[in-house]
Amino acid sequence: MPLRVRNYIDGRWVDGSGRTLESVNPATGEALASAPVSGPDEVAAAVAAARRAFDQGDWRWRKGSDRARALLKLADLLESRTDEISALIAREMGKPVRVNRAREVEGAVDKLRYYAGAARMLEGRVTGSTLPEIWDMELPEPVGVAALIIPWNDPVDLAVRKLGAALAAGCATIVKSSEITPASTAALIEAVHDCGAFPPGVVNLLHGPGDPTGDALVGSAGVDKISFTGSTATGIAIMRRASERLAKVSLECGGKLPAIIFPDADLERCLDAVTFGAFMYAGQSCTACTRLIVHRSIHDRVVEGVVARSRKLAVGDPLDPKVLVGPMASRKQYDKTVQYIRMGLEEGGRPAIGGVPKEPGRSLYLEPTVLVDVPADGRVAREEVFGPVLAVHRFEEERDALALANNTPYGLGGSVWTQDISRALRTARRLDVADIWVNTHYIRHVETSFGGRHLSGIGRELGMAGVEEYLTWKRLCIDTRSSFHLKDWFESDRGGQP
Ligand code: NAD
Repeated sequence: MPLRVRNYIDGRWVDGSGRTLESVNPATGEALASAPVSGPDEVAAAVAAARRAFDQGDWRWRKGSDRARALLKLADLLESRTDEISALIAREMGKPVRVNRAREVEGAVDKLRYYAGAARMLEGRVTGSTLPEIWDMELPEPVGVAALIIPWNDPVDLAVRKLGAALAAGCATIVKSSEITPASTAALIEAVHDCGAFPPGVVNLLHGPGDPTGDALVGSAGVDKISFTGSTATGIAIMRRASERLAKVSLECGGKLPAIIFPDADLERCLDAVTFGAFMYAGQSCTACTRLIVHRSIHDRVVEGVVARSRKLAVGDPLDPKVLVGPMASRKQYDKTVQYIRMGLEEGGRPAIGGVPKEPGRSLYLEPTVLVDVPADGRVAREEVFGPVLAVHRFEEERDALALANNTPYGLGGSVWTQDISRALRTARRLDVADIWVNTHYIRHVETSFGGRHLSGIGRELGMAGVEEYLTWKRLCIDTRSSFHLKDWFESDRGGQP
């Protein structure tokens, strides 16, 4: 029997009013969970609950230390459920349990604890440049009701990045799960409910796809802020819709990360990193390494090294703790990836490993594909695949490497591989992306913020900059002088600025 997951509105678990969707275990093809397809009525109920909690409740007015305590309680409960939630994510979207444990659930717990601290650090500013009788200051206030729309590839951690920051800021929230992973995100919200630390309406959960659920949420006049993680196409549609009422938007969208590999790179380390970066959980990460831009002199060694390592990757049952690569999360993602591999071959790429599977669609497991001699202007070189596909280019001069790396509409991140610190810094400055690793990949800390440029998005997540996305500023000016300054100015013969 599939798990039955429900919406969470105003502190209660509620059924939808009719249609349901099913998530499927991609390793077995079995139905995993059934969830409501929330329509306009459910969306309106969730928005009304969040509005009441924000407008009439006390969450936003509580001391930072009280909001911090609630977040810490949630972190503790989530931590105690690490094993079961890691396994649930593995079953629902095929990401290996070992990866879920460390990077999803333990990562989410750590973020909640960071945000608990952040709730006590919401600082305003008072200018010291005025006359001493005038106090001119800026105060941070929570932005209001925040809709948090998340994708399927990190269904707990990506929700926490938004939820923790929004709650620290004092917002009321509506999380919308992905239609691929409703049960995994519901497990997080169950911890919210069970920890008993949040007033009804401060956290709500809606299930359903973009149409009708996401669209109704984005279009709701009761939503002040939309924080979205997902594809660029959806991000653009959301921004267009939100612009009708000037709702605040932040977007974490797609990526196409290059790794520029210079001849003096520590190759063993580099090859390990780019292989993990490209193929860990089947490349279904926005910051996966998707392009190798390799100096001509080491091109063949790099390709051979990545191929050899790819053959040794631990592929298999996502519930096996020794596995690093599971199946693609869904039939849709599998088909899209195979289509891109076909396109890459038609564009002139040659598979050093992988290629179109012999029996496409027999299972959702996809062998890693490394395509060499991919044309720089081809679609596989420039567009996000979101699967285990690595395109390789060669370069001669540093400036050619940069031109190749920057030849994509995305600007999420990239990496530079060299022992020469001057070259590393020079290249990093000229890479037109928002997040750069030097001689490493996949290091992230909640203390530093993250976000994209160009088609990779708008706004920041994590760090204090991530919390500021849920704040709005109020300027407050107090004049302690005994008379009104404009009258004094007008009645005097003084010129200049009053
Ligand atoms: P998607 O855009 O299809 O869906 C993301 C979410 O948006 C889902 O919850 C979906 O139901 C909802 N949605 C779809 N249409 C909507 C609409 N019109 N209005 C409101 N909501 C709508 O993306 P996906 O396939 O779930 O996720 C994969 C994408 O996410 C990749 O492009 C990946 O790069 C990106 N991603 C980015 C980051 C980042 O931090 N930059 C992190 C993870 C994933």
